[in-house]
Amino acid sequence: MASATLTQSLRYRLYPSVDQEEVLRRYCAHSRALWNCSLEQFGYWRHGRPPSPNHAVRSRQLTEARSELPWLREVPRSVQQVALLDFDRACQEWWRGKGGYPHWRSKRRAGFGMQGCSIRRKSRKWAILRVPLLGEVRLRCGGLQIPPVDVVRVTCDGKNRWHVSVVVRVVPEAAPDSSGRAIGIDRGVVNALALSDGRMFKTPSSKRGDKRVAALQRRLARQRRGSVRREKTKRVIAGIRQTEKDRRRDWIEQRTAELLADFGVFAVEDLRVANMVRRPAPKVDETGKFLPNGATAKASLNRDILGQGWSHFLTRLQEKAAHGGAIVVLVAPHNTSRECRACGHIASGNRKSQAVFACEQCGHRAHADTNAAENILARGLSALAHTPGSGARGHCASARVTRPQGAARTTAIAERSLRHG
Ligand SMILES: [Zn+2]
Repeated sequence: MASATLTQSLRYRLYPSVDQEEVLRRYCAHSRALWNCSLEQFGYWRHGRPPSPNHAVRSRQLTEARSELPWLREVPRSVQQVALLDFDRACQEWWRGKGGYPHWRSKRRAGFGMQGCSIRRKSRKWAILRVPLLGEVRLRCGGLQIPPVDVVRVTCDGKNRWHVSVVVRVVPEAAPDSSGRAIGIDRGVVNALALSDGRMFKTPSSKRGDKRVAALQRRLARQRRGSVRREKTKRVIAGIRQTEKDRRRDWIEQRTAELLADFGVFAVEDLRVANMVRRPAPKVDETGKFLPNGATAKASLNRDILGQGWSHFLTRLQEKAAHGGAIVVLVAPHNTSRECRACGHIASGNRKSQAVFACEQCGHRAHADTNAAENILARGLSALAHTPGSGARGHCASARVTRPQGAARTTAIAERSLRHG
């Protein structure tokens, strides 16, 4: 317990000069090129062919290529090395079934990782990021601490703002305490957050932005490829998207702060968001013709799900809870919206519409999202009561309890007493 630490990601705004920005863009390009090159090699492998190169082989190939091609030596080796390491990690995750198949890196998402950097404070507000071969880049740190760093990640967003993020290990400020007030949180599409006390929150609407983007995309379709005006339209679209992203992030910061101020125990569904936004499988009839499979409707729902920022909300809640000594319990999501809180009856007919829940057995009526949030709370509390449990696995559901204890933050436990009838 004494050595309990957490990893925390810190992000600062960078202010490169015009010349420095050009260099940073070149680093981004190299990082992307190495990634895409590795992906191409990786994708070449088929059954019956010799294995595709692993990280050690790729590193050796990089060394050879750098000695032969002068343009590869324009950027520090560590930028390319980190890109290879990232790619290797992505492949391993995919191989272990923890992540999707690595994607091509596009020019639109500029960023790179690098070793051998350091940050030095200059004044209360400003610091300096030392980048090998580039020099010193101004960095705004505000009142934030400056940790010792080595590996940094530099990104550029849709509004051309540069940021640097570093991962540091910190000791949590408070010990975990399960005595605080408990609340269940249901994440949904219509109401982004529904609390078990009846409150509901919606994410800021992106309707106006969507409309403008749709109009701009029509304009984009008419513009000649590679033209200056087309590039300008693209920049405007990226800017609007970034504004929406900023608003959603900000909204999540505000909601999590409010929740942490009021409650000490949070029950949240353990949703696999990545699985939920999968494309539906194509349907084919006997002749091989494609049948309607609801892909368009699902794509629209996927957009809504992703627009709610469910994963980001949970990540921030967990990070903040870990520091404040609060506890986040992840519960099994099965049937939370179909189960009656009053009598435990589970039926899809219980849910009359998006908003209305009316139990077919006992007649209990409630807002459907509130009912779900109450179920989540009940599951969370029962999981918490069984936390140090013997490890006996329940047959139908399990819950993960997130406690601020560093590496052992997630403990798999069995949730035996689900309130089924
Ligand atoms: Zn009932």
